[in-house]
Amino acid sequence: MTIAAVGDPANSRLAVIETHALGKVYSEGTEAEVIALKGVELKIHRGEFVAIMGPSGSGKSTLMNLVGCLDKPSSGSYLCDGVDVATLDAEARALLRRDKIGFVFQGFNLLPRMSALENVAMPLGYANVPREERLQRAHAAMTAVGLGTREGHRPSELSGGQQQRVAIARALINRPPILLADEPTGALDSRTGEEILTLFKQLQADDHTVVLITHDPDVAQHCDRIFVMRDGELHEQPGFGMGDSGLGHPRS
Ligand code: ADP
Ligand code: MG
Repeated sequence: MTIAAVGDPANSRLAVIETHALGKVYSEGTEAEVIALKGVELKIHRGEFVAIMGPSGSGKSTLMNLVGCLDKPSSGSYLCDGVDVATLDAEARALLRRDKIGFVFQGFNLLPRMSALENVAMPLGYANVPREERLQRAHAAMTAVGLGTREGHRPSELSGGQQQRVAIARALINRPPILLADEPTGALDSRTGEEILTLFKQLQADDHTVVLITHDPDVAQHCDRIFVMRDGELHEQPGFGMGDSGLGHPRS
């Protein structure tokens, strides 16, 4: 728990992702210097489903890596579920990432020789969680994504949409509040992409915060809010969703 107490009406409006003047420069001070992010102000509340759009090279993945605690900003600040990430060393950042963030990518990155269930259990590691519990939790995650009957299948025996659902189950295994998805429907046909979006909405209803990078305006329309990245600057698309009040949800 951070600032607001349980039962406090403000609690449901706590920002889980909050950046101020966030900047990222690669190869700073060299000829190869790239200013990838400039002054990004982003505030996302618990239970929101937001899209980030923008052309290739505009800084979307850079922002995702920072929000996902995979990288450190060059300037500005980031509060991840109330924790100032700049105050953490690499080890503490890795722990925060494990507890708070689930990642989903365009390529599903499943291990081909393992069953779907084993892939989902992977992030639990071998040392920390007993085998029985690992399998039980992986089973629950597989059921949550509607694949309870496909656990023994290898990735190659599953469709693209099913593989992505396995990847989502794997992202959920540590029960992180934040789910970050970088082009998760990019490799899927539109009908299968819709299924994945439906799944994200179910996860949102289950109190997950979902941040989705997409090139596809039809995909972005499913979200509460849309941000557009241009040349490292992030702008919220006006007149869409609920603005930045953080109050209520437009979905019914
Ligand atoms: P997007 O995801 O929107 O395509 P990226 O965040 O990947 O954009 O990239 C933003 C800019 O930063 C691009 O100019 C890219 O070439 C550069 N960039 C990304 N990652 C690195 C890196 N690790 N080192 C140097 N430059 C990078
Ligand atoms: Mg990218």
